Amino acid sequence: MPAAVLDGKKIAAEIRAEVAAEIEEMAGAGIRPGLAVVLVGNNPASEIYVRGKVKSSEELGIYSEQLSPPATSSTEELLRLVQELNRRDEIDGILVQLPLPSQADAKRVLMAVDPGKDVDGFHPVNVGFLSTQRPGLVPCTPAGIMEILRRSDIPVAGQEAVVVGRSDIVGKPVAMLLLNANATVTVCHSKTRDLPAVCRRADILVAAIGRAGMITRDFVKPGATVIDVGTNKVTDPAEFQRIFAGNDRRAESFRSKGSTLAGDVHPEVAEVAGALTPVPGGVGPLTIAMLMANTVRAAKLRRVSRMAELPRT
Ligand code: NAP
Repeated sequence: MPAAVLDGKKIAAEIRAEVAAEIEEMAGAGIRPGLAVVLVGNNPASEIYVRGKVKSSEELGIYSEQLSPPATSSTEELLRLVQELNRRDEIDGILVQLPLPSQADAKRVLMAVDPGKDVDGFHPVNVGFLSTQRPGLVPCTPAGIMEILRRSDIPVAGQEAVVVGRSDIVGKPVAMLLLNANATVTVCHSKTRDLPAVCRRADILVAAIGRAGMITRDFVKPGATVIDVGTNKVTDPAEFQRIFAGNDRRAESFRSKGSTLAGDVHPEVAEVAGALTPVPGGVGPLTIAMLMANTVRAAKLRRVSRMAELPRT
């Protein structure tokens, strides 16, 4: 039986509806959550991501502001901009879109963001809160993965979870969230020996690698839940054939656009897995939904005294 498809678009829509309801409720107390997105320079991929974030904020009733300092901005200039956003009361969330131009020190800029406004959850204070299970802001993609599992009734406690990838943005925080949810967690990376054998232990397998179609059926225990975080642009026809041979719909779009989006998980995994997130339409939609949720959460945590009359969630 083919794997059940874990529909990220549907789950993201549910979360967005819940967030919209919270925003409406906050409006009753005269509070409108505010998000500032800092886009340095003109990286075309970053421009698309930022447009999506601003559009989504506006749709939900979050006040949003895009700041676009030039590509030549120095670290000091960006630090001043972040400090100004830290001071502004109507801004609850600050997101500095990565990557920054090479002359800017991304670590220093991210460290300057007020941890209470760090809606990306990258600040070491929030990383520390996550690892010590205290309330804080959790990185959006990992938080979205946990929502997919929770809302799809996939048990986590006591399960073997294997995460392939140890980035600060996805691999490590999702491993920490799975551990906090009582899974037995193994984190793999490029130096892991016999990766297929380690992955085959997993009841929940998370692939956050950045290599198109790398996780093939021999990595997957029959019936496992497979979460595919990868978003890889495939342009090479031979690679396309290796991953999507026989998929006429993909072939047609590949021919017309010259590229297609592939996850880290090979489509043949659908024949063995119990449940699988598609790419596109799996983890991706959750990332923006969780950014919206984090902005509302940041607003609530920071303006809590003015929220006294609102029911707690
Ligand atoms: P990253 O920082 O490049 O990390 C990749 C990880 O994969 C590293 O830990 C690396 O190991 C490991 N790895 C690479 N090749 C491997 C191999 N052959 N065997 C085992 N492990 C290997 O990437 P990232 O930022 O975590 O992103 C991962 C993927 O998720 C990318 O495709 C990215 O575009 C996608 N992504 C999607 C979303 C979304 O919203 N859908 C959000 C974020 C990221 P080492 O540490 O040993 O180098």
